[in-house]
Amino acid sequence: MKIIEHFIEGKHYSGNSKKFSPVYNPATGEETAKVKLGNSEDLNKAVDISKNAFLTWSNTPPIQRARVLFKFKELIEKNEDELIKIIVSEHGKVYEDAKGSLIRGLEVVEYACGIPQMLKGEFTENVGKNVDSWSLRQPLGVCAGITPFNFPAMVPMWMFPMAIACGNTFILKPSEKDPSCSIKLAELFNEAGLPKGVFNIVNGDKEVVDAIISNKNISAVSFVGSTPIAKYIYENCAKNEKRVQALGGAKNHCVVMPDCDLDQAVNGLMGAAYGSAGERCMAQSVAVAVGNVGDQLVKNLKTKVETLKVGPGMDKNSEMGPLITKEHLAKVKGYVDIGVKEGAELVVDGRNLKLQGYEKGYFMGGCLFDKVKKDMKIYKEEIFGPVLSVVRAENFDEALALVNNHEYGNGVSIFTRDGDVGRTFSNKAKIGMVGINIPIPVPMAFHSFGGWKRSLFGDQHMHGPEGVRFYTKLKTITSRWPDGLKSDPEFIMPTMK
Ligand code: NAD
Repeated sequence: MKIIEHFIEGKHYSGNSKKFSPVYNPATGEETAKVKLGNSEDLNKAVDISKNAFLTWSNTPPIQRARVLFKFKELIEKNEDELIKIIVSEHGKVYEDAKGSLIRGLEVVEYACGIPQMLKGEFTENVGKNVDSWSLRQPLGVCAGITPFNFPAMVPMWMFPMAIACGNTFILKPSEKDPSCSIKLAELFNEAGLPKGVFNIVNGDKEVVDAIISNKNISAVSFVGSTPIAKYIYENCAKNEKRVQALGGAKNHCVVMPDCDLDQAVNGLMGAAYGSAGERCMAQSVAVAVGNVGDQLVKNLKTKVETLKVGPGMDKNSEMGPLITKEHLAKVKGYVDIGVKEGAELVVDGRNLKLQGYEKGYFMGGCLFDKVKKDMKIYKEEIFGPVLSVVRAENFDEALALVNNHEYGNGVSIFTRDGDVGRTFSNKAKIGMVGINIPIPVPMAFHSFGGWKRSLFGDQHMHGPEGVRFYTKLKTITSRWPDGLKSDPEFIMPTMK
């Protein structure tokens, strides 16, 4: 059985913990590897090494750091097929979707290659007579990232290329469900010439996470995962005086206005609700049908959901792969049972799908609910599976109120041909990422990614300009050189008045 170890100081490291967690191929249900679950000793070792590597890396000119990132980008491109296959084999998503997620991560590396430009700072000559002042951003030290299972390449790459480009060293704790992609990325970064100890991986579960939180030598923590854990990370990192950004769960709405291009809305919803089996934090799990559009919307969706091609991720014909684990599959099916009991109308039932040759895989078909009400559990909670709920709203105001009163605020979109409606919606929605006729409004690498409300605890979004701010501290220097003129003691606040 393959053992997935940690990656510390440029090499694989087995550590001294005896705990393991199984890694499965979700399409077959086969256990393909065991991942080492580290302990605080493993984490502390990685921190000591990272702390030491920081001394040199933080002093390496940004242009030289950028050159390593350029090489890393080339190596990711060269090894693209292998990385995608790793994602498919441990996560289950279909090949082309895995490729898209890898490219979205790669784009952050490309953005990070421009780090010399982003760290230029600001300068003012003569803030006072012969006094100059400038602001610059310096790296924080050792940073850590804790990531979820659903994007084994992209989400870690939201974090570590930015942190490292800014001059920090980084420890990643990937999801124990699909850790191999991170290890491959670390090997490639190493091959690109990244000095040893700048990027380390400690695999594990809560034990390693708690060791990260309590380690005084870690300056900042980036987290992406479910809301209860995000809140735990946020509160406890703050208690331990760390900078923290903790991104949580979601329940993204798609408002379908009666004047929209219905084909565009239906196709958009299909991809956004069922792509990656709904295991995306930007998945659309609620369609809000406004006015009289509901019946036609549900009819068109029904036909498409019934013919959704479910299959293993390596099959070119598959549109949707399996769920991540047997337990998660049972949980998602359980939500469908609850929806039926709550009185929602189950228009398409994918619970009993069986695939010949893949009987042990964690597959289910797409499910579609109509007439879902806002007090139902299936509306309130994140299901994280291929289940779309249609809620009927009489008018735009009612739809907007649904969006704004939900506890989550990650993404939202509206389908309409009315520019004024689109503009008012984007202005009033209490949501971090808004799409107008765009089903999954995930910002590009040079913008920043993040939600509002209980979808993000902390102040800064990920990657883009916010990423640079998160991974650096601002310093402002004010300076005057001796000019030979007489200077007396000053006991008042200096001003230019
Ligand atoms: P999760 O919260 O279970 O796990 C995330 C990370 O936290 C993993 O590395 C895991 O090992 C660790 N963890 C789990 N339980 C812990 C505990 N009790 N104490 C400390 N650490 C713990 O999330 P998941 O199931 O891997 O991922 C799915 C969730 O992530 C969904 O809720 C999804 O919406 C969310 N997500 C959010 C975003 C975003 O940008 N907002 C992006 C991707 C995923």
